[in-house]
Amino acid sequence: MKYYIIFGPPGAGKGTQSYLLAEKFKLKHISTGELLRKELEQKTELGLLAKSIMESGQLVDDNTILEIMKKEICADNEEVKGFILDGFPRNLYQAKALDKLLSTSGRKVDAVISLEINDDLAIKRIQHRAQIEDRKDDMDFETVRNRILTYHKKTEPLISYYKERGKYFPVNGGSDIEKNFLDICEIINKINNE
Ligand code: AMP
Repeated sequence: MKYYIIFGPPGAGKGTQSYLLAEKFKLKHISTGELLRKELEQKTELGLLAKSIMESGQLVDDNTILEIMKKEICADNEEVKGFILDGFPRNLYQAKALDKLLSTSGRKVDAVISLEINDDLAIKRIQHRAQIEDRKDDMDFETVRNRILTYHKKTEPLISYYKERGKYFPVNGGSDIEKNFLDICEIINKINNE
């Protein structure tokens, strides 16, 4: 069972690439953002709790996210060859908790594939997405700005965490979807053949 993390700031294209990768490599795509938006849509207690945090561009509390994650990561079946984690982990606490969770059953993170893009491009992409998808946190400029700031402050430190462990694989996220996909496939094929 392989565990890949797709990493990058909001707007990097993590969702799009995860979808393509899940199809090609028979991976289960877990997007914590999507799971939270579903909770929100269904107006569950969790969804209502997360709503204002998501709309302010901050991170939902770690224990809530870890509970969601545990459930999803255990729900594997024979057809699934691995997982692609999108939007998780988002900070060091979550990264360490993931390592611990996987290690209890002899598993590990295989690779962190990072779509590297600059803030200007991230903002441009999010503004474009806002016209297509109905995401509240994409529509408000202040929220977008906060999400990018949160990324730099809380999520970016994970780069050294995974680099130190030899698991960080960057690609130029500024390329188009097809090129990004080819670059990522190359990395995954290499890892699968190791
Ligand atoms: P995303 O779709 O990944 O951009 O996530 C949308 C929002 O959901 C984020 O801005 C956070 O408020 C929340 N969220 C998603 N994943 C996490 C996570 N791993 N930890 C904390 N909050 C998260």
